[in-house]
Amino acid sequence: MIAVITQIVRRLTAPPIDNPELLKAQYLALARQLPLMYIILLVNTWALAATHMSTAPWWLTIGVPCVLTVVSLRRALMWRRLYGLTPETAQIIHILTRTNRLAPIIAAAFAGWSLSLYPYGDSYAQAHVAFFMAITVIVCIFCMMHLRPAALIVTAVVNTAFVIFFASTRNPTFIATAVNIVLVSGALLVVLQNHYRDFTSLVNMQSRTAKLSNENLRLANEDSLTGLPNRRQFFSSLDMALQRAQREGLRLAVGILDLDGFKPVNDLYGHSVGDRLLIQVGQRLAELADAHTHVARLGGDEFALIFTDGRDDDALHVVGQAICARLQVPFQLVDVPILIGASLGIATWPDMASSATEVYEFADYALYQSKRHNAGSMCLFSPRQHEQLHRDAMTEQALRKADLDEEFHVLFQPILDCVTGRTVAFEALARWTSPELGAVSPARFIPVAEHIGLITHLTLPLLRKALQAAAAWPGDVRLAFNLSAHDCASPGSVQAIVDVIASSDFDAARLDLEITETAIMQDIVQVQNAIGSFRRLGCGISLDDFGTGYSSLSQLHALALTKLKIDRSFVTDIHQKPASYKIVKSLIALSQDMALGCVVEGVETAAEMAALRSLGCTWVQGYLFSVPIPFSQTLTWLERDLA
Ligand code: C2E
Ligand code: MG
Ligand code: MG
Repeated sequence: MIAVITQIVRRLTAPPIDNPELLKAQYLALARQLPLMYIILLVNTWALAATHMSTAPWWLTIGVPCVLTVVSLRRALMWRRLYGLTPETAQIIHILTRTNRLAPIIAAAFAGWSLSLYPYGDSYAQAHVAFFMAITVIVCIFCMMHLRPAALIVTAVVNTAFVIFFASTRNPTFIATAVNIVLVSGALLVVLQNHYRDFTSLVNMQSRTAKLSNENLRLANEDSLTGLPNRRQFFSSLDMALQRAQREGLRLAVGILDLDGFKPVNDLYGHSVGDRLLIQVGQRLAELADAHTHVARLGGDEFALIFTDGRDDDALHVVGQAICARLQVPFQLVDVPILIGASLGIATWPDMASSATEVYEFADYALYQSKRHNAGSMCLFSPRQHEQLHRDAMTEQALRKADLDEEFHVLFQPILDCVTGRTVAFEALARWTSPELGAVSPARFIPVAEHIGLITHLTLPLLRKALQAAAAWPGDVRLAFNLSAHDCASPGSVQAIVDVIASSDFDAARLDLEITETAIMQDIVQVQNAIGSFRRLGCGISLDDFGTGYSSLSQLHALALTKLKIDRSFVTDIHQKPASYKIVKSLIALSQDMALGCVVEGVETAAEMAALRSLGCTWVQGYLFSVPIPFSQTLTWLERDLA
């Protein structure tokens, strides 16, 4: 029996433990209302004690009220202290359970005390007792309406005592009052029940809305593929990190990382493998993330990092190289391991950049430099690059204003046959004489023209000029012309080049178009199509700067190349550098195996030439023979050949 009662009491007094949000809302409402309830209770108590002061014994009019005051004030102060705090759910459960259990005890104490005053008073004072109990129970129901068990228990305790006591007085007025109060309490309990239901559903709705908006916020800031923070989150993290770095006087670094060779993987294995590769890249990068290293995906195959622990340049180099090395480890996604690389640009604040936008732009520039000159590695934005960026900006300004037909022309550098010493071709090399900047080297203006999307507008007039000049040469002299990656990047730009060649007087079969390895790596399928179009016209295709990029043998096979041009960097001091010697030797052997012509560029000394000759090299180009010369000089140069 006791066990059953305990069980019922437990169930009645248990707060909604499975609903933390409701618990919190109940707790907050009670913390606001219960101090008020205790104050009203005490004022009413002392008013009742006062009306019985002269008739009842002192322990009833002073003693008991004092005890009740101490207990009530302690409870009121406790709730006052809790107001504004948000304790853990477990603590809230503990507080609410205790309140539910104390409610009948405190209610019984007040009811018992007030009824014990009844015998001492006259009719007025007796009516005061009835009024005290009735009105107080209403205040309690209102103040505790957010904690239904407590409100119910208090009503039950006080009303039971009230009804039994006043019914036993056989006084019709008090009996009527008892009936009255039971009805009013009943109605109040119905209102309480409705209110509690509305309150619960309101809290539940609020918590669902909060959850939903949290979820929306998460989705808006998360990259759905990798689960990493997205571009938006990256920029807001960067702003916050910068503010903190400013406050704490710490250095901050931003890294932008771009995968090398991701597009070929996508083209070759399909987008689902590409997606899985990005997920794994995200996972490898996320392993680096800690309190001081934020990682995000900016989009495509571009990721970003923020280092907030004030690392110096050396430490940034170490971590940057480690990241690049980590991404060079093969990915096992299909039956063969997939090999890609990553280039990383890092810029620092406040020594290099002065704002979030600048540090991001500088890191992006460093990335661009590392991609161009040293793909697969990291590049730290340096004062030299700062100058270069400034110079690029000036070049860009001048280039946008330039009259492309007027200011640009081509020079020609002969390519010779090693055995006969005769000129087999000329390579056309662009020159710009800017009215503002003077003579600008192609190494400076080509990358800028590519960057601002002006290169194709430049290629077409230059190609026209080169073809027109070359038409004057003897029929066995070829023309080599450089194309940029962007020239091959869209069917439209390829068609424009095809049209220029087709409409010229120069035989397309005597034209070699030079494409760099980096251009091929950007979009192998599109480059393949472009090469196909040029080959159908009869043009040859040379792979320029061979050996400096990432192309694999299988990729070379997939392209309809006709020549390889071995990069100057392997030729410089080849006679003194066994490593260069071996590389050139194997590149020449490779070109022979693939039945491709081979041009060695950048030959500057007789010693280099002797080494190349011993390797069986066929065609050469370099300052040893001639620097690039204007068209008029090509004619005298060719006459020398005939002599
Ligand atoms: P590239 O196609 O590899 O051209 C060879 C570069 O090496 C030329 O520099 C040439 O002047 C230089 N060179 C030739 N022999 C030697 C040598 O013995 N020693 C040294 N140190 N250099 C030598 P240039 O004319 O400054 O052109 C630089 C690059 O700009 C070219 O490299 C090519 O990639 C690009 N470029 C030039 N003209 C054009 C063009 O009309 N269109 C495009 N898209 N790119 C061009
Ligand atoms: Mg070239
Ligand atoms: Mg070259």
